[in-house]
Amino acid sequence: MTPHFSKEELTCKCGCGMLPDPIFMNKVELLRVTVGFPFPVNSAARCAKHNKAVSGTGEDGPHTTGHAIDLGLSGAKALTVLNTALRMGVFTGIGINQKGNYPGRFVHLDDLPNAPGQPRPHIWSY
Ligand SMILES: [Zn+2]
Ligand SMILES: [Zn+2]
Repeated sequence: MTPHFSKEELTCKCGCGMLPDPIFMNKVELLRVTVGFPFPVNSAARCAKHNKAVSGTGEDGPHTTGHAIDLGLSGAKALTVLNTALRMGVFTGIGINQKGNYPGRFVHLDDLPNAPGQPRPHIWSY
């Protein structure tokens, strides 16, 4: 879908074929090029049905818009990606999960607009 991210790793994991928004992915691609190291995508696009199955946000969480991504990052790389994302200024939602087992740690990024029940800009932890 972009030079560093395949459709396979970005599409909804239920098999429905939903892909993230291409303009959002351009921002993630620029982030990837800027940091200069690869990072795994835990989850990008999710249809309402799949989101309800895997997330506490039910059928209308950030990922259902195609404007959100969870990156499997911890430690120094998580800090570098966070610093870069903040400096870019194009991401409005940042969620941090950096506790528990290292393989389970991730950084959520989205670029959603401010809306009732979904304040942006916003930062949260899991
Ligand atoms: Zn799906
Ligand atoms: Zn997320």
